[in-house]
Amino acid sequence: MIKAKNLVHEYIRRDEEGNVESIQTALDHVNIHIKPGSFVAILGHNGSGKSTLAKHLNVLLSPTEGSLWVDGKDTADADKLWEIRQTAGMVFQNPDNQIIATVVEEDVGFGPENIGVPTDEIWKRVEDSLRAVGMLEYRSHSPNKLSGGQKQRVAIAGVVAMQPKCIVLDEPTAMLDPVGRREVLRTVKELNRTKGVTIILITHYMEEVVDADYVYVMDSGSVAMEGTPREIFSRVDTLKLHRMDVPQVTLLAHELKKEGLDIPDGILTREELVKALERLSNKG
Ligand code: ADP
Ligand code: MG
Repeated sequence: MIKAKNLVHEYIRRDEEGNVESIQTALDHVNIHIKPGSFVAILGHNGSGKSTLAKHLNVLLSPTEGSLWVDGKDTADADKLWEIRQTAGMVFQNPDNQIIATVVEEDVGFGPENIGVPTDEIWKRVEDSLRAVGMLEYRSHSPNKLSGGQKQRVAIAGVVAMQPKCIVLDEPTAMLDPVGRREVLRTVKELNRTKGVTIILITHYMEEVVDADYVYVMDSGSVAMEGTPREIFSRVDTLKLHRMDVPQVTLLAHELKKEGLDIPDGILTREELVKALERLSNKG
């Protein structure tokens, strides 16, 4: 679905005469490979290059060096711009900037209408998309009155209605309360599981990547770590080095193991830690 080969992005700042004032390397030879239908998370602290990568996936930026293919199409190929944008839908941090209509169903129908989908088909897509994000009963509501999590799900429905093969979500939960965060995550996982949409979830919350198929950790514009969530969560010291906030349950398990308790590496959830401790006490 996505392949980046030695992808480099430099933000170049120029003065009024056009002389280069500064160069910021935001992506530094990034290599990633994302299979169709997978749920991939991209982690990294602020400034690590995540949003720059997201913008490349949607061709809001093009490579300074290296290449990026989305569904086999080279993003440097100007003729493919609209095809690529329809292949990879984007969801951003702030739902308020993504919702434009005054009624939920109109907002969701806006994208398909814009690309000339026939009216009957638009209504079908609107209904299917709102059902897929669990917001069908709010179809005639005003988006203003919805919670942050509900608004974000409407924004996701708007993207789903465009029937992209892949959805890129750039910190979609950053502005939400814990309930909203859970709603959005559940929705995204459901879309991946039931509709086979490739999901690329960009986040700085490690807890959100537990169910991903594969995880990339970025630092200073490079891929610093990659692997399954369990492989990543096993490397607590490396994660700290890359300024990631390791979930408390993973930290606790790591500390207990360091103190000599026989606990497996890469504990992801509270349930797993409880099971591991129960096994120990049964043995003892
Ligand atoms: P993240 O999304 O992980 O926080 P970004 O991709 O936004 O990271 O930023 C990566 C680096 O590029 C940062 O050092 C940031 O300051 C810089 N950067 C981002 N956008 C611009 C821009 N428009 N002009 C110059 N530098 C930028
Ligand atoms: Mg960002």
